[in-house]
Amino acid sequence: MSDDCIFCSIVAGDIPGRIVAETDDAVAFLDANPLAPGHTLVVPASHRQRLADLDAAESSAVFDLVHALAPDVEAAVDADALTVGINDGEAAGQEVPHVHAHVVPRFEGDGGGP
Ligand code: ADP
Repeated sequence: MSDDCIFCSIVAGDIPGRIVAETDDAVAFLDANPLAPGHTLVVPASHRQRLADLDAAESSAVFDLVHALAPDVEAAVDADALTVGINDGEAAGQEVPHVHAHVVPRFEGDGGGP
């Protein structure tokens, strides 16, 4: 855990987060500024800044939770599809320095996405 990391604080329950699922090594919660209804973030439970900082088990834990959640996220908001993506590094648009996969519901003709 990193004391000044907002996602670590959500994982630890120190600040409110709308957690939708969690396993021992990964946590999913709703994005505070969603690109679409149901926009969900999946993070490793431990503080890891970049994708390359995850070991194989942590990487699997994140993707396994994305995989398990995806149909539920899509169904919950009656979406037509999903965009799943990771901004890995500042130059790629990563603003919160704790790895997170975006799971963004997509709708026919929405023209949006991360
Ligand atoms: P970008 O903001 O360019 O998408 P990131 O890929 O780093 O950059 O995404 C950070 C995401 O975290 C954003 O979608 C933002 O809305 C979300 N976010 C920031 N603070 C919180 C928070 N306290 N709770 C939930 N989501 C948050």
